[in-house]
Amino acid sequence: MQRNRLGKSEHSLSRLIYGVWRLADASDTSTAAVRNKIDACLAQGISSFDHADIYGNYECEKLFGKVLKEQPSLRDSMELISKCDIALISDKYPQRRVKYYDTSSQYIHASVENSLSHLHTDHLDLLLIHRPDPFMDAAETGAALDKLIDSGKVKHLGVSNFHVWDWRLLQQHMKHKLVVNQVEMSLLHTTPFTDGSLSAMQLDSLAAMAWSPLGGGALFGNSACAIRLKPLFERFKREQGVDSDLVALAWLLAHPAQIMPVIGTNNIERIKSVSDALKIEIDRESWFEFLTAATGQEVP
Ligand code: NAP
Repeated sequence: MQRNRLGKSEHSLSRLIYGVWRLADASDTSTAAVRNKIDACLAQGISSFDHADIYGNYECEKLFGKVLKEQPSLRDSMELISKCDIALISDKYPQRRVKYYDTSSQYIHASVENSLSHLHTDHLDLLLIHRPDPFMDAAETGAALDKLIDSGKVKHLGVSNFHVWDWRLLQQHMKHKLVVNQVEMSLLHTTPFTDGSLSAMQLDSLAAMAWSPLGGGALFGNSACAIRLKPLFERFKREQGVDSDLVALAWLLAHPAQIMPVIGTNNIERIKSVSDALKIEIDRESWFEFLTAATGQEVP
């Protein structure tokens, strides 16, 4: 499995990342079933796992952490990513009146402590601020993030769903470097390729992670976009014998920006074969065929 370095450090993440957002939705959430998914990932070199405090109504980190509690040595074979700042309306927080974002120092530190405790680990390899907070005090948030690195509780920092102006404001107040931006990117959501987002990430040396790289499964549904893409997927299946979900990932992987797709399937058979996406070649003209079908428009 290819790996992408985090900033200028010696640390790296696997090119494909397994996202655990849907872990609690699986029909079997037993520790054995979660372990099975982790093992299937690790067997292919998918060693990076994408969490957030809120996933599964604050339960997914705990489900995953039970595996690490049972087998602590597994921790050394993986990188753990988590996120914070979204305060969900939840039975776990009955006092909340509205969903909001919280990038205060107190909230970030409390959230990281919870993540560490749920995951049975003493550090996160990467912490992301989940969503840009319109009420952010950049000096306070930046100092809180720096402190997490200095304490060793977090090894690297990044953001998610941030625009260039959001991360530059935060970065201006930080000593340590932001190294990742995780954004929605797929054949169903192609705007980052053309609205300057991906260019800005490269300019500022932020590694690009793509969440919902299959549009959460909608790429294979009945939308106009999915219907336009279908004949192309069928052609790849006919000519190269490869499944459409892998081709959709290969389309992201082909981009020179070294995009890291964060996959979300709960299906163990899909997990076991997902690294085959790295073997599929998408040449320039094919890349544009997919883009044209996805947007429904020839490039100008
Ligand atoms: P995804 O890989 O685009 O979608 C996964 C969904 O697609 C699953 O429900 C899966 O169903 C379905 N699927 C996969 N292959 C399929 C196929 N061939 N045919 C039909 N359905 C198929 O990713 P995602 O789960 O939406 O998101 C991935 C990760 O991104 C999350 O786990 C999370 O870590 C991260 N994320 C981050 C943010 C953020 O704001 N930073 C937001 C959303 C997600 P099966 O389980 O049945 O295979």
